[in-house]
Amino acid sequence: MLYKEYGKTGKKVSAIGFGGMRFTNPQNVDECAEIVFHAYDRGINYFDTAPHYCEDKSEDIMGAAIRQMKPGTFFTSSKSAKANGNKLRGDLERSLKRLGVDTIDFYHSWCLLSLESWEERKVGGAIKELQKAKEEGLIRHIAVSSHLQGEEIVRVLDEGVFQGVTLGYCAINFPYREAAVRRAGELGLGVVTMNPLGGGIIPMNPGRLAFLKTAGDRSVVEAALRFNVSNPQVTCALVGFSSKEHVDQAVAAMEGFQPYPLEQVEKIRDQILESFDQICTGCGYCLPCPEGVNIPQMMDVYNQKILRGGDVKHMQDQLRNHWSKPASHALLCSRCGICEDRCTQQLPIRDRLEEIGKLEK
Ligand code: SF4
Ligand code: SF4
Repeated sequence: MLYKEYGKTGKKVSAIGFGGMRFTNPQNVDECAEIVFHAYDRGINYFDTAPHYCEDKSEDIMGAAIRQMKPGTFFTSSKSAKANGNKLRGDLERSLKRLGVDTIDFYHSWCLLSLESWEERKVGGAIKELQKAKEEGLIRHIAVSSHLQGEEIVRVLDEGVFQGVTLGYCAINFPYREAAVRRAGELGLGVVTMNPLGGGIIPMNPGRLAFLKTAGDRSVVEAALRFNVSNPQVTCALVGFSSKEHVDQAVAAMEGFQPYPLEQVEKIRDQILESFDQICTGCGYCLPCPEGVNIPQMMDVYNQKILRGGDVKHMQDQLRNHWSKPASHALLCSRCGICEDRCTQQLPIRDRLEEIGKLEK
């Protein structure tokens, strides 16, 4: 296993982390905890969970596994999205109890979806409460997790509150949050990436995404994980494991692996961008839209259609659950065409928006 230092914390974290959001049978806590312990046994030491993941069982599962681990040999991560300080404190105390620990190593202000909600968290006392809990020793490091675009996350990170950031970042959408990853590196923050396998899209499309592979990669999964952790700013890529076999595959991708040199990472990025066909890369060059349409988010919804076999359910899920937007957001488009002139992938943005707009009719 490859280990990397989490920002300036001095903590050596496994380059692959366990994301506790994809257990297939979460009601069977012991069976799921065995998968977590197996990962620990194979060298994974970063365990990420949150309230409400997996029918609200994820923290119980992680706690059951952690109780069997040797103290001081693993790191815990959990989260609260509350803006109100007292409510955040309630979440934190519940997480500590369920995980069976006195301190959570990395505690996140969770799922920041807008800069307005960032302001609400400051005004509502959540950020102060995080700092207080850190002083009390209930939290070791304060981090933020966000689905915002890179430049917006940069504004949050620049306020100097956090020691790390957790964000979605993978081989098929890396330009969308590149600015935040780079800024986090400049600020000396840890960077944990969510969805390094594109939420399952990458393993589902080994043929279409074969261009991700470089010499030595046995699969697109291996290629995507290696690409992710080769980024010098990325500390740890979180994989949502649902079986011991999945753990073994990810661990195998890291066995004896050393991050690619920077020039090679840049070369792979160029190859990926050149090889995309009809897929939005999230680069953001199409912005701003005069009508306020978040084009990269909407095109990411359309990516689901292309890469998941045309099932509209995946598009609807991505709209509602990932981006928290109604389908009518796409209908703000006045069809001016400015974005299509700017689009690096020459996508038919207007037609795609029209299609998305019909999703909930
Ligand atoms: S075509 Fe639509 S989405 Fe594109 S810039 Fe114009 S209004 Fe915005
Ligand atoms: S629509 Fe085009 S320009 Fe906009 S983010 Fe996607 S690929 Fe980039």
